[in-house]
Amino acid sequence: MQILPKSPTVKNPPEQFTGDVWLDVIASPKEADQQAVVGRVRFAPCARTAWHSHERGQTLHVTEGVALLGQRDGTVLEVHPGQTVYTAPGEEHWHGATPEDFMEHLAVTENGDDPALTTTWLEHVTDADYHRP
Ligand code: MN
Repeated sequence: MQILPKSPTVKNPPEQFTGDVWLDVIASPKEADQQAVVGRVRFAPCARTAWHSHERGQTLHVTEGVALLGQRDGTVLEVHPGQTVYTAPGEEHWHGATPEDFMEHLAVTENGDDPALTTTWLEHVTDADYHRP
């Protein structure tokens, strides 16, 4: 057993995120047969991911603020601290903060066989889609 060094907080890239989004990787594979990646992700007000999907799905657990979870049918879920959301493999979605507050969630993602292809990134979320009631 060992206490791991804290990984540096990194800003997520503007090609895949709108606004300021910061990532701390909490857990990543240490052995050849491990695939889970856990990140603590902090979003500034109005910040959100681009549309994307995950090859093996993703579990999100909201820890602070109110998370907005957008789906392709136009609905946007409001998810509160302590609530957990599962998105199935290949399901296109986005996640972000509300316009009024910071939001933090934990993200649990299983790497694909090629870790670079774990997440398929698509177009940015337009203001119209973001503000849809
Ligand atoms: Mn996601």
